[in-house]
Amino acid sequence: MIVDFHTHSLASDGALAPMELLRRAKAAGVQQFALTDHDTTAGYLAVRHTSEAGEVGLISGVELSCRWATTTVHVVGLNFDADAPEMVAMVEQLTQAREERAEKIATRLAGVGIDGALKGAKAIANESQIGRPHFATWMAETGAVDSVTEAFDKYLGTGKIGDVKMFWPPLSDVVQAITRAGGVAILAHPLKYRLTGMKLRALINDFKAAGGGAIEVLNGRQPETDLKRLSQLAEGNGLMCSVGSDFHRDFEYGPKLGIDVERLPNGAYVWDALEASA
Ligand code: AMP
Ligand code: MN
Ligand code: MN
Ligand code: MN
Repeated sequence: MIVDFHTHSLASDGALAPMELLRRAKAAGVQQFALTDHDTTAGYLAVRHTSEAGEVGLISGVELSCRWATTTVHVVGLNFDADAPEMVAMVEQLTQAREERAEKIATRLAGVGIDGALKGAKAIANESQIGRPHFATWMAETGAVDSVTEAFDKYLGTGKIGDVKMFWPPLSDVVQAITRAGGVAILAHPLKYRLTGMKLRALINDFKAAGGGAIEVLNGRQPETDLKRLSQLAEGNGLMCSVGSDFHRDFEYGPKLGIDVERLPNGAYVWDALEASA
């Protein structure tokens, strides 16, 4: 079976329209699928009742931004009621937070001589949930930097001036928005936060205490050793496992859509629970 529970569309910082993404997932043989845009369900809502959604086994999905101590953390929500007031309110709160953060990022960039970033990034984002990638694309297009990668390395990445954290709600709030909407909360890409082993264990503890149900043991292209380590962390903490490509766009060295579950170690996976509850 081929599944993918972490992907992005044009509704956030991905390159493909939601319907195009579903077609691509179908072509990749995906049988269970989630569109998990950053802090918005707009893409999911636009395609949920189509025949293509049925063909790829689409379930609801989202990737929510939050803070845990001073770290920005991503929590994927799956199989929730997208119309539940808790989810609708959380997505609205995060949309507002992104708006305010964008203004702050632009102010900070102006402080280092890069003017007009808010207008520029908003034009790139258009209707999409605005994020740092839209700033990065604008900076590359205007020649402020040579590439999107350079924009992150110099201005937008962790610890740089454009990395504005204070707007995200606490971890427990986003976990609860997902669980109260009837979904399962998944700690996304746990090794991307660059935490020490001790801090990572503390994060997983807090995540579980808040009602978190699973950790993402496979995210895009990652070393085999990470899959093993994360699977052990999930099992040791009584959490299920989830997997996703984190596909944003076609990119030579980037991940492809769809993960063959045959390559995964034995464990408790979210799709087993989804099938059991169906
Ligand atoms: P945001 O959610 O607005 O804070 O932006 C985070 C997003 O930026 C991530 O989900 C990635 O898609 C993208 N991103 C983060 N770091 C980089 C990087 N170094 N190069 C390119 N894209 C990045
Ligand atoms: Mn992204
Ligand atoms: Mn993420
Ligand atoms: Mn993602």
